Formats: sequence, C-alpha cells, structure tokens
Amino acid sequence: MRSVSIFGATGSIGESAFDLLMQSGGAESWQVRALTGGRNIARLAEMALALRAEIAVTAFPELERDLREALAGSGIECTAGPDAIVAAADRDADWTLSGIVGAAGLPPGLRVLERGGTLALANKETLVAAGRLVMGTAARTGARILPVDSEHSAIFQCLNGENIENVEAITITASGGAFRDWPLERLETATVEQASTHPNWAMGQRITIDSASMFNKSLEIIETKEFFGINPDRIKVLIHPESIIHAMVTHRDGGSIAHLGAPDMRHAIGYALHWPERAELPVPKLDLAAMGQLSFRAPDETRWPALRLAREVMAAGGAAGAVLNGAKEQALDDFLAGRIRFTDMARAVESALDDLTGQPGFATSPTDLATVLDWDQSARQAAAGWAARHGGR
Ligand code: NAD
Ligand code: MG
Repeated sequence: MRSVSIFGATGSIGESAFDLLMQSGGAESWQVRALTGGRNIARLAEMALALRAEIAVTAFPELERDLREALAGSGIECTAGPDAIVAAADRDADWTLSGIVGAAGLPPGLRVLERGGTLALANKETLVAAGRLVMGTAARTGARILPVDSEHSAIFQCLNGENIENVEAITITASGGAFRDWPLERLETATVEQASTHPNWAMGQRITIDSASMFNKSLEIIETKEFFGINPDRIKVLIHPESIIHAMVTHRDGGSIAHLGAPDMRHAIGYALHWPERAELPVPKLDLAAMGQLSFRAPDETRWPALRLAREVMAAGGAAGAVLNGAKEQALDDFLAGRIRFTDMARAVESALDDLTGQPGFATSPTDLATVLDWDQSARQAAAGWAARHGGR
C-alpha cells in the first residue's frame, strides 16, 4: 500500500486530493500518514478520521486543544504549529502533496526534498521564492518533484519523452481572471468581492485574486523557468478565456504539443498521484464539438503589470523571486484588509523590488532556507511600508 501525506488538506487543492483518495478506496487503499490544516479544525478532524491518518497537524498552536478534542479516542496523533508541520514532513510518506498557500508551504516542502521524498507541488511559491535551493536540494538528495499547478502538469505531460534542448517555446495559458474584460480605468475601483470570483476555476481566495491581478501568472512564469530550467525568453503567456488548453510546448521543428482538459484540479493532482501510470479519474471529459470554439489573445501588460514584473524578476535573478513573492503576499493582505486598492498591489510589489534591489546579497540566489525567509520578511516590510505611505486613498 502506498503511503501519502497532504499538506494543506483543508484547502481547495487539499479537498480535491481528499476526494481522489476517497474515490479510490480511501483508507483501504492508501496509508495516510500526515494531514495538515489551518483554522478549520472540524474539517481536518473529519478528514483524518475518514482516511485514518497517523497524525493531524494544525498550523495554529492555540487550536491544538480543539484538534485533540475532535480526535479524542481515535488514536490519531495531534500536533500544532509551524515546527510541527515541518516535523510531519519528515514522516516517511511515499508521496506528499504540498497544498499549503503562500511561503508557509516552503519549509515543509523543502523537508520532504531533504529526505529524498516525492513532492507533488501545488505550492508554486516554493519555486518562486527558492527555485535554486529547491531544485538544488532535489538534485542532491534524488528527491522527485511532480508539478501540480495545472499549467506545469500540462508542460510536464507535453514534454514526456522529449528533449528540452529541442524546445523553442513553452506557452502557458491564462483565463484572464475576473477583470479580463473590464475597462482599464475601472480596475482601480475593483473590490475584494469582485476579485474573488473566477470565471472558470474554483480555487482558494488568494489564488483567485492573484488570477484577477495576473500575479498568479507572474508566479507561474517564474515557476516554469525554475522547474524546467528554460530560458525566460522562451516562456510565453497566452490569454485563453475558456481554460481548456493549459499549456503548449513548441519544438524547433515547428510542431507544438498542447495539453487539453477540463478546468478541474483533480486531473493534475491525480496525474501526479498515479504517475508514471495513468488512472481513471473523476474528471469531466472534454466535448470539443459541444464547445464549438476556443479563443486566444495576447496579454496586455498595461492591464497586468504583474507580467512585466515577472520578466524583470527573472532578469534580476538572485533574491528577486523571494522578494516578489513576499511583497505580493503582503500586498494581497493589504488589499484584503482594505488598506490599498486592487491596482496598488502591483505598485507595492514594484516598490519593494526597487527598495531591495542593490541591498547586500540581493544578486545572489539564496541557497539556504533562513536567507530565503529573511528576504521574504524584508519584502513584506517594504510592501507594507508602501501601503502605509500610499494606502487609504
Ligand atoms: P486554500 O487557501 O484553499 O488552502 C490553503 C491550505 O493551506 C489550507 O489547508 C490552509 O489551512 C493551509 N494554510 C494556510 N495558511 C497556512 C499556514 N500559515 N501554515 C500552514 N498551513 C496553512 O489554497 P488553495 O487554493 O488550495 O492553494 C494552495 C496552493 O496551491 C497555493 O500555493 C496555490 O497557488 C496552489 N494552487 C492552487 C490551485 C487551486 O485550484 N486552488 C491551482 C494551482 C495551484
Ligand atoms: Mg495554475
């Protein structure tokens, strides 16, 4: 029986993974080691009981008692706090899903790689903030990373059996998010509620807002560079409102291989779960005839400065990825709290990058976790500083 752990089990990615495990035999077919979550203790406990997990961990120490009460008499271990999450990543699972949102996903994911495990990576922040460290650790220990972000799973599938040396371009698609068709001047007034609805994908609130601002695509461009080791000039973004083609690889002989599928994360998660096999998955099958047509357009960098920032970050290298990610997370917190406007998020991130570029060590890609987290903190402070100076307008 294969053993699995799910980090961020109670989130959107985690729920999809839970569904896949339950639909393929549950505790009878899978040995579930660790499940981790945040504030939703009732759901975490319910999942742990259903899958007979060895251990359940909440990120919040003040909730440990609630978790213990919810799992009393079950024999399931309970722990809490960021260190407990990292310790749970040390448990020897054959397959671990990194479905935590934000830079908080980096320490446990890195721990899985340090012990040479297999990491199914939905947490794109891991590669954006610490690409060199993460890929270097995997190379050193022989750990395997299986991409779970839909575009990266698609690229991985398109590259199956191909030589990356022959790749001329990798194109990732973007739906365009909630504000694809809004007049530019209206973007300034976009509310949290408006930014929190996605036209095609059901996802956590943070990634949904990142899709509306295109910071999600910005992170994904960098994720593509870090994971596939491809030159940034060869990475393209295409607006594709239907979200059916997730990515496309163009070879130097002029042939392009695209990956198509319904916008349902259970495909990418399930592909990684069963890799290198393919299994029956509870995912809707495409009916292109019923759909009639697919459409495409070029992205507009005036509408979405986040795309330009991704290019600048890749050109800068060093700690720029960690700064972009940390500043973006802070700017999103500030937007959610009503301190800054939707369009201010890109301004705050750009300002943080400007502030920190040229600081000692910035040009060097961090090769240890503490340095990544230092840059992450500095970036959050710089972005918060921008919000304090310019927010409340
Ligand atoms: P979500 O907000 O729905 O869930 C996040 C999970 O992380 C929850 O279990 C939450 O309890 C946990 N969590 C939150 N803060 C934490 C902390 N500080 N420490 C430990 N755990 C914490 O998010 P999501 O939409 O499932 O996204 C998860 C990750 O997957 C993100 O990195 C996102 O970019 C990526 N991703 C998501 C989708 C999607 O369809 N939702 C698609 C591609 C990639
Ligand atoms: Mg994606």
